Amino acid sequence: MRERVTVCEVGPRDGLQMAKSRMSTAVKTRWIAAMAESGVPEIEVGSFVSPRLIPQMSDTAEIVRRAVLLPRVIIVALAPNLRGAQEAYAAGAHRISVPVSVSEGHSRANLNRTPDEQVAEVARIVSWVRGQDRPMEVEGACSTSFGCSFDGRVATASVVRVAVELAAVGVDMVALADTVGYAHPSLIRSVVRAVRGEIGARLDGLHLHDTMGLGIANALAGLEEGIRNFDAALAGLGGCPFAPGASGNIVTEDLVFMLESMGFDTGIDLDRLIRARDILAEGLPAEALHGQVSVAGIPKTFRVAA
Ligand code: ZN
Repeated sequence: MRERVTVCEVGPRDGLQMAKSRMSTAVKTRWIAAMAESGVPEIEVGSFVSPRLIPQMSDTAEIVRRAVLLPRVIIVALAPNLRGAQEAYAAGAHRISVPVSVSEGHSRANLNRTPDEQVAEVARIVSWVRGQDRPMEVEGACSTSFGCSFDGRVATASVVRVAVELAAVGVDMVALADTVGYAHPSLIRSVVRAVRGEIGARLDGLHLHDTMGLGIANALAGLEEGIRNFDAALAGLGGCPFAPGASGNIVTEDLVFMLESMGFDTGIDLDRLIRARDILAEGLPAEALHGQVSVAGIPKTFRVAA
């Protein structure tokens, strides 16, 4: 039995929010289905934010309603506040990811709240979700855990404090996000160790950006520290409209290539996943697609998933 590593595809959320044009609901639906059919186990399909702020996300409720009909895939939506969480629940999302910026500057720009105020919002969300009939997982995502384009360095102690507070208010899992892509492998190691030392296995995942070209190296550092859940975006789309300088997420295809080559089981058919880029290109013809494996081709040395 090969050890499992879970890849959560965040392209339809993190990837599209920075795209210059809008992907139609029909193409987005086909794109998500194609990635699910390639075996991607978790997909973050959109965010419940004001369509005025991010027009790309105006169809999120419809997208979630369609995506939850796909078999064998956990459908995640980003919800920055209680109202978003309620909309995600109504649409049938299996999990919400609630961002909490560790740095004051990003927190104010992204959420117009202090980190403490946002932790209090997460507490309200968790208590509301737990009162509903159907279960819905709540992930607390610590944005700017490895640096901030407004505030610069982010103290590890601040990351630990936010992670501990999120665990205390009862989130199901905590993820650490390198929102702007300033992390490096040794910082990944030290922050993951510090957070895990306080909240243990509740620390679940890493969300990495490739701004400095260190995304895959950072993923490897996290993997070696025992992280088994990674966000990534097909073709490395992505960015944060409220984090100047942030570029795309780590490339899902390249991450899957690394993980499978190293003997981990992602459950993803890499060839089929790469073919899902065609639908992305069709939906966003002006957008630059990134990634190495898709250009080089899958080498003969690659073990084809059974
Ligand atoms: Zn991101």
